[in-house]
Amino acid sequence: MIHLRGEGASPGIAIGPAYFLASRMTVAERRILRRDRAAETARLDEAVVSADEQLDRLERVLADEKGPGAELVQAHRLMLRSPEIAGESRRLILDECLGAEWAVTRALDKVRAAFSRITDPYFRERAGDFESVGERLLRTLLGLPEWRAERPGAGSIAIAVDVAPLDPFHLRAAGVAAIVSQNGGSSSHAAIVARALELPYVVGVKQLAGQVVSGAQVIVDGGRGDVIVDPSEQTLETYRARMVALEQRTARLLCERDLPATTTDGVAINLGANLESLVGVAGVRAAGADGIGLFRTEFLYLERPDLPTEEEQYQDALSVLKAVGGLPVTFRTLDLGGDKLPLSIKMPRGPNPALGVRSIRFSIDQPDIFRTQLRALYRASGAGPMRIMLPLVSSVTELRRALAICAAVRDDLSAEGVPHDPAVPIGIMIETPSAVLTADLLAEHADFFSLGTNDLIQYACAADRENADVAHLRNPLQPAVLRLLKHAIDAAAHAQLPLSVCGDMASNPSFTWLLLGLGLRDFSMEPRAIPVVKAIIRRSSMDEARAFAARALASPDEEQTARLIEAAMDAKFGADLAALVSAANA
Ligand code: PEP
Ligand code: MG
Repeated sequence: MIHLRGEGASPGIAIGPAYFLASRMTVAERRILRRDRAAETARLDEAVVSADEQLDRLERVLADEKGPGAELVQAHRLMLRSPEIAGESRRLILDECLGAEWAVTRALDKVRAAFSRITDPYFRERAGDFESVGERLLRTLLGLPEWRAERPGAGSIAIAVDVAPLDPFHLRAAGVAAIVSQNGGSSSHAAIVARALELPYVVGVKQLAGQVVSGAQVIVDGGRGDVIVDPSEQTLETYRARMVALEQRTARLLCERDLPATTTDGVAINLGANLESLVGVAGVRAAGADGIGLFRTEFLYLERPDLPTEEEQYQDALSVLKAVGGLPVTFRTLDLGGDKLPLSIKMPRGPNPALGVRSIRFSIDQPDIFRTQLRALYRASGAGPMRIMLPLVSSVTELRRALAICAAVRDDLSAEGVPHDPAVPIGIMIETPSAVLTADLLAEHADFFSLGTNDLIQYACAADRENADVAHLRNPLQPAVLRLLKHAIDAAAHAQLPLSVCGDMASNPSFTWLLLGLGLRDFSMEPRAIPVVKAIIRRSSMDEARAFAARALASPDEEQTARLIEAAMDAKFGADLAALVSAANA
């Protein structure tokens, strides 16, 4: 039995056989000089010939064995030389001066996107064949050994080096029971999606390679960050019993779903849901949410070859508003960049993507894309109460530019006679230290604030949210983070501006007292966290929460604050709720 530790990224317990996800090759963007194009296409042609020879050998072996597979290899040979792989890669080298590996990667992205829109499961599955062929070609170009693709079985534990934001959707569809990865952070978008799908996930397990073999039995505890390989029978029994107990406690909490989130001294708290796609919209009411406090619209743009049209975005917004039937929805405008890279737009990555052209910066740089989205949102504004939220605003000047684009869109719609509500509130995410420190100035231009603690923590602690090596520095309880939160909350209160929190801190019941005590009355979180957060609120008074927040603010470091929280939770809530809190404590 081997016990590995990582960071809990999505709570829940799963037990199953290990399945290694082929590490997706990460190829750096490389451009070539125009005069080098002939040499680069020659490199590509050579690699195609060599990959074809590998397949030819494989085909002959399979044909000699009279086993299945020879026909599949024949198909792979055709795919290799197809217009989609060899043809498109060649075109990208000649027309766009891309390096051969980068050209193959881009060609594969396009194929992947095209397949993702096919609904027929049989044809959709063929995407895996193209992936395999493309991977073979890349490995040949890079001089790496041959590689074989497999598919995870239902109930397996996916073991990966890196996990992309949309991978959890695909893994869930394949029936995978949990994910473990070597890299990544618990506030990465892959982790956010895994939590939304209730797929247990542990990130940053450094010793993965060499410790787990394919098919080995693995226990994943996504709340505590534990990964146990080849568990003893006794350990298996313990975890099976914990799985059952957790399910029972969660079911008990759901009984309180429709009761108000009001403290024992009568303060009403608003609990919204965070959503990434239309898929989870039905779960918003099921969780007892008061609305959608954060709709991450950018997920509509990922994994597709073209930009969504105004009509498509309008229909999407309409569906969301209708699905929650009258509950308020906060649509956040495009927050692309960092780990959310669309296929259809060439995002300027720059030397440090987290500090580069992302989010509102990108929308201001590409006003056509921004305007299309704003038009769609405004057009949907008659269908239900809604707000528009701008991500990553970092200065008043930037906010003024973004608001000017919003105003121009409203003017256009009015001039065209298109029905819309010009009074839709426009607010901003407070997720950079500069926004916190100028919150009083920003408040003069915004209709509301929402604290984005995921980004705020990465920028405050100077620790990339994607990088597992600095996970220990990225701590929500770091005094710097608590002081920034307090500063922003006080500034919003002084300006009498509505303020909510929609970063992952809101989803973590360990932080509920702290956030309440700091002055927050409006939370938005992953839907499944709502019942446990509501249970805590309904059993707490504001006096308790305020006293606790004062102690946390006076604490000299994050470790002492974490101990304070643990002791307070145990003393107040006893074993039952405390167990749920620690299980949710990703
Ligand atoms: C945040 O940064 O806290 C946030 C809610 O936005 P995202 O996680 O999508 O960056
Ligand atoms: Mg953010």
